[in-house]
Amino acid sequence: MKGLLVYPQFGERITKTRMTTQVGTPTHPLRVAIIGSGPSGFYAAEHLQKQQALTIEIDMFDRLPTPYGLVRGGVAPDHAKIKSVTKVYDKIAAHPNFRFYGNVEIGKDIAHAELVDHYHMIIYAVGAQTDKRLDIPGEDLAGSHAATEFVAWYNGHPDYRNFQFDLTQEAAAVVGVGNVAMDVCRILARSHNELYQTDIADYALEALKNSNIKTIYVLGRRGPAQAAYTNTEIKELGEMEEATIVVSPAEAELDPLSQQALDASNDRAMQRNVEIVKNYTQHQAGTKKRTIVMRFLVSPVEIIGTDKVEAIKIVKNKLVQKGDGSLRPVATEETEILPVGLVFRSVGYRGVPVEGVPFRDDWGTIPNEEGRIIHLDTQAQVIGEYVVGWIKRGPSGIIGTNKPDSQATVNELLEDLAAGKTLNPKHAARTELENLLETRQTPYVTYADWQLLDQLEQERGAAIGRPRLKFTSIPAMLEALAERKKSAEPQ
Ligand SMILES: Cc1cc2nc3c(=O)[nH]c(=O)nc-3n(C[C@H](O)[C@H](O)[C@H](O)COP(=O)(O)OP(=O)(O)OC[C@H]3O[C@@H](n4cnc5c(N)ncnc54)[C@H](O)[C@@H]3O)c2cc1C
Repeated sequence: MKGLLVYPQFGERITKTRMTTQVGTPTHPLRVAIIGSGPSGFYAAEHLQKQQALTIEIDMFDRLPTPYGLVRGGVAPDHAKIKSVTKVYDKIAAHPNFRFYGNVEIGKDIAHAELVDHYHMIIYAVGAQTDKRLDIPGEDLAGSHAATEFVAWYNGHPDYRNFQFDLTQEAAAVVGVGNVAMDVCRILARSHNELYQTDIADYALEALKNSNIKTIYVLGRRGPAQAAYTNTEIKELGEMEEATIVVSPAEAELDPLSQQALDASNDRAMQRNVEIVKNYTQHQAGTKKRTIVMRFLVSPVEIIGTDKVEAIKIVKNKLVQKGDGSLRPVATEETEILPVGLVFRSVGYRGVPVEGVPFRDDWGTIPNEEGRIIHLDTQAQVIGEYVVGWIKRGPSGIIGTNKPDSQATVNELLEDLAAGKTLNPKHAARTELENLLETRQTPYVTYADWQLLDQLEQERGAAIGRPRLKFTSIPAMLEALAERKKSAEPQ
């Protein structure tokens, strides 16, 4: 018997004659696993759900019991509005064919080979879980930290809750001038009152309350016209309750090449960044409890100390124009030593390999062509496996950037489905996956469980006048869930 499948999502109508046992029908749903519940995973799910002509079951996995990836564990606690994007994700999760399996790590709780046995298509949305290095002497001294660690710590990520940051120090350096560097600087500089109104982890709130930090140097290797932060983030540093931001007039002044580039450009955001920094030259250091010192055209060359960070050595850069027209920093002979006891390296995130999945170590991404995973050696397509988000294209772009990126990958997946290029799972029923988890006694967390946890966190917060009090350890999450479910049972 023959059946007809129509794929109306493409510009042209793609029809294909297929066997009625073909996947994507109510009797044989297309089973898709999405690994990772950050923005890219949810946008991939959303685009799959829009395919009205297909019956698709989506199983989303996350190694944490809590969904949302960096929206929960990366976005700064004082940026509550940005986190409200999770309402969109909750709607996606409410679709009847969607299931969440939190607290299940692929590569540990479920092997790659097992995924292949249970799904027709697999989408990796695992993000970038670690940091890039500076590769300078002293980088591993105590007191030198990756921004990834500090960010995950203050956001209550269970893997980082026991990290220690020596906030008895009077001065810290933040290396980098992207938005993550701005977040780190802001969190170090915020008053207790400002932080109390956020969902920052309780232990971080307490540690930062007792912080002794008075000076925060923010180090950018290029000039104010090339900084990667956005207008809002640099402006916010000028609006802090207990911190003032200063820039020396010499460093706020553009070099002739940057001025030329700015004059020739219509980039309003760049012009505004330069204006904001110029205004900061009017500020006086020491007028508030803390001072943020923005430095431009400097690169760290060494972190100095015997058994812990005591200072950071920086070299002054000049900008030179490369063949492609871009302005690149080149070190001069001039160096300077800044006495700091803490260093936060914020020079980018990096992906980590997933067991059984190809990985490009030099880029820290999963090798792919437009989202289709490819073998590193042969460049041939890995049938049925796809990639979205930061692990696809590297750690760039804001939450919204992931939406078109995930849609593009899903379109490739649908094209492959239409061509019959899927995996051929031995155990395609959802019950078989759940049986596997249950036999293994993996305590997975469903979306309803997460919503209960979410409610509990908000209740705990409301009791002390805060928007949320996060659970920061997995056993505590599982225990709280079990208790609440038990108390809800009829006596
Ligand atoms: C510090 C910081 C602040 C940011 N602030 C903003 C902001 O204010 N506004 C904005 O628009 N954008 C912001 N961004 C960017 C935004 O967070 C990213 O664009 C987005 O989160 C990338 O989405 P993703 O799905 O690729 O990865 P992620 O959000 O990292 O999600 C990946 C998910 O995969 C899970 N996972 C990983 N490995 C496995 C595995 N083996 N098995 C199961 N699950 C796994 C992880 O637990 C995680 O939940 C920020 C980024 C950072 C780092």
